Amino acid sequence: MTTTPPAPSAATGAAVKAADRAHVFHSWSAQGLIDPLPVAGAEGSYFWDYDGNRYLDFSSQLVNTNIGHQHPKVVAAVQEQAAKLCTIAPGFAVDVRSEAARLIAERTPGDLDKIFFTNGGAEAVENAVRMARLHTGRPKVLSAYRSYHGATAAAINLTGDPRRWPSDTASAGVVHFWGPFLYRSPFHAENEAQECERALAHLEQTIAFEGPQSIAAIVLETIPGTAGIMVPPPGYLAGVREICDRHGIVFVLDEVMAGFGRTGHWFAADHFGVTPDLLTFAKGVNSGYVPLGGVAISAEIAATFETRPYPGGLTYSGHPLACASAVATIHAMAEERIVENAAEIGETVIGPALRAMAERHPSVGEVRGLGAFWALDLVRDKETREPLVPYNASGADNAPMAEFAAACKRGGLWPFVNMNRTHVVPACTITAAEAEKGLALLDTALDTADAHT
Ligand code: PMP
Repeated sequence: MTTTPPAPSAATGAAVKAADRAHVFHSWSAQGLIDPLPVAGAEGSYFWDYDGNRYLDFSSQLVNTNIGHQHPKVVAAVQEQAAKLCTIAPGFAVDVRSEAARLIAERTPGDLDKIFFTNGGAEAVENAVRMARLHTGRPKVLSAYRSYHGATAAAINLTGDPRRWPSDTASAGVVHFWGPFLYRSPFHAENEAQECERALAHLEQTIAFEGPQSIAAIVLETIPGTAGIMVPPPGYLAGVREICDRHGIVFVLDEVMAGFGRTGHWFAADHFGVTPDLLTFAKGVNSGYVPLGGVAISAEIAATFETRPYPGGLTYSGHPLACASAVATIHAMAEERIVENAAEIGETVIGPALRAMAERHPSVGEVRGLGAFWALDLVRDKETREPLVPYNASGADNAPMAEFAAACKRGGLWPFVNMNRTHVVPACTITAAEAEKGLALLDTALDTADAHT
């Protein structure tokens, strides 16, 4: 794939930014304190501004563009579908919608054979919770601290990071528990087996005190993403599956971020041999070329709504342009071995390079991840594991992470930064040469973090 050289034009960039500042209200931001980069174009693993600066995208646009930017087959599929049928209400049978559903169902684990389409991840989580509550007739839902499930009512309430606080009264019945995370173990465990055993015992105890008969669902990210790419210890997810079965609780795995090749398998659940009752997806299903998400539903839960209507729907559910982009994306991923590429790059390039950086840099406390899904946990002190910036820091408190991000960008690398972590989450199509180039830039930028140890 060739990258179109940007046409430098600072004047246009300034105009684009001025127009943005005049009328666009941005997510998660103090509107007066942000300085959005005007983006002129993108291709493959890169995007660029109007000043001639190209950035190697190690963020995948919120861990989204698994097949990279502007994949020609997906662009063509959207154009062809637009010429044929742009929109049709969800109640009709449409070839491109049923084909997208079939391709997704074929790849999801076990008997998750029915697909409810949404416009993104949060809506998928909302609907999974509603399905679980209607299926079980129970009100409560359990989810983990250190999780992210979306910004709509129930989804933000399930989210376990502090961003939920301002709006977490929107949905009742959510109970948080601690999932496993050995590096910062809530259970003071010394090894993965202990962490797994204690995390499962803690979950059992939470269920006992909440009352199993009141719990509709346990919602977990298979590998928590935004909260730190914390790969669960062997046996944990199988243990949760067994607990759910024993208590008649619906097991929901949220694969909005980890799904569709990101971890080097089609779904992260494939690493653990676990099948949930409901699986939520979005992002990588079509790399966000047109908004799309959904819930993959087990035969048993689908049967609940065979004669009883499902009380939920969206005008754009199964939108033809979104479904066309998903069909083309899934075919391209299979034909071009993109899932395999993520696995190989993770194992042979990203993982070894990050581990070598951890040896060299006093600020790198832990490296974790797999596929194209990695985190560096940055610390002030490797012994105490004190995070490089305080939890949920902003302003001056967050300066070390802001300096690190600025150093990456000066070198032409666009990083993903969250709290005291940087995540290495490039496109799953990234080449070894591109990955090595980005990792070298990251290595240099880490010197700024080392200065705060
Ligand atoms: N679940 C997970 C695991 C996510 O990572 C995200 C988004 N980062 C969401 C849900 C919400 O998805 P969306 O932003 O498309 O609503």
